[in-house]
Amino acid sequence: MSGTHFARSRLRWAAALQGTHAMKLHELTIEQASDLLQKKEISSVELTRAVFERIEAVDGKVGAFLTLDREGAMEQAAAADRRLAGGDGGPLTGIPLGIKDLMCTKGLRTTCASKILENFIPPYDATVVTRLKAAGAVIVGKLNMDEFAMGSTTEHSGFQVTRNPWNLDRIPGGSSGGSAAAVAADMCLGALGSDTGGSIRQPASHCGVAGIKPTYGRVSRFGLVAFASSLDQIGPLGKTVTDCAIMLDAIAGHDPKDSTSVPEPVPAFADIDGDGLGEVTIGIPKEYTSAQGLDPQVGAAVEQAVKTIESLGARCIEVSLPHTDHAVAAYYVIAPSEASSNLARYDGVKYGFRDKAQTDLLQMYRSTRSQGFGPEVQRRIILGTYALSAGYYDAYYGKASQVRTLIKNDFETAFASCDAVVSPVAPTPAYGIGETLDDPLAMYLSDVFTLSANLAGIPGISVPCGFSDDGMPIGLQIMGRHFNEAALFKIARQLESALSINTRKPNLE
Ligand code: GLN
Repeated sequence: MSGTHFARSRLRWAAALQGTHAMKLHELTIEQASDLLQKKEISSVELTRAVFERIEAVDGKVGAFLTLDREGAMEQAAAADRRLAGGDGGPLTGIPLGIKDLMCTKGLRTTCASKILENFIPPYDATVVTRLKAAGAVIVGKLNMDEFAMGSTTEHSGFQVTRNPWNLDRIPGGSSGGSAAAVAADMCLGALGSDTGGSIRQPASHCGVAGIKPTYGRVSRFGLVAFASSLDQIGPLGKTVTDCAIMLDAIAGHDPKDSTSVPEPVPAFADIDGDGLGEVTIGIPKEYTSAQGLDPQVGAAVEQAVKTIESLGARCIEVSLPHTDHAVAAYYVIAPSEASSNLARYDGVKYGFRDKAQTDLLQMYRSTRSQGFGPEVQRRIILGTYALSAGYYDAYYGKASQVRTLIKNDFETAFASCDAVVSPVAPTPAYGIGETLDDPLAMYLSDVFTLSANLAGIPGISVPCGFSDDGMPIGLQIMGRHFNEAALFKIARQLESALSINTRKPNLE
């Protein structure tokens, strides 16, 4: 982060910081904590200890973490303090973060919330983890998710259900539900998630935090366990939009180890500020406002957010994304097809769980995979294998890929007349645990607003914009042109500060 940004952020937080000593350390944002660390008013060891105390106090109720690394974290915190003492720290130095459990962490169990990888300890770090460590971040532990990131509720974890900190009877969203819940409940200052069809944005929306899916190719996926390779992307979830920008600054950029990562220059996202939205044109897709099943309270919160964006100076116009209706069908052919191919590697031979009782090879494969994968993952593999089978490829995967191009073209047409498109993130606020367990189609349909950004490869951010009558958070999605995350940060940050709803916290006492 540049000096000017720090100067500005000091000013911005000057008033808040006077009160930060009264605040509990775990409640700090990354931006606030970083300022206090740089000024040596707190140490990373103190901050990390506070975060672990918070986890001990509340994670029994929430269930966000699958693995904790207290010892490693305390060592990293002490190293960060040494670095800060030498005046050599950046905005993430000494900051405790959580990692969704499908990014490889060297020496630390990485399960993808699947029994098939229950005891898998990676011999290397994912590039994003390497970059966070190089920035001096402290890795607290690994966060729960839907198994192999397949799902929208985090109930499809092979190990535990994560609960929404705002109401423990509700889902936190998914598949990065552990990441969103941990950030919302102050169990880490920020987290990484992954998004194949909405898995960062939707849980961020349900848990009242910010989360961005960057452009496909913006962040290296080396060391990310693959779900659907043409859609997967890693991104941050944070208590504020700025915190997401700080994390994205650290992880974005070309990586020779991932051939899909793009050598595109990365602007300093945390520096993007600006006053007002005078130059900005926002597109409102008519297909989204009239979408079937849109909860009126979500519709009202989104409408209010659009009015606020307008009051900040932006021009709002109607745009059309005519192929929206086909996004769910196209995604639920493409994603399971790619998953069925990616998951073929879990065969009990190379690594992971094996049914050792079997002596026949084919029987061993069958039994290992039947026991190792949960029902949602098996459903996807069966769907995907069918769609890819001889004679069906053209009718399913091929056709879905053509629809995907139409969806991408819709956005290109829309972006000819606007800088960003806004929409709801999810059609309803977080619903009750168990509500869609027996109805996978209902769960799939709830992804209607988020899937298109993955199919088109464009960036999308979710920013808190309101609450339902019963106190559940609602997010606004802002999507932009390829590699124009900067526009999303600018709009989201200004909306966030105009609405000032970040001050509201879930009560877990
Ligand atoms: N809910 C979607 C699915 O189940 C998206 C998941 C994701 O983005 N990882 O496939």
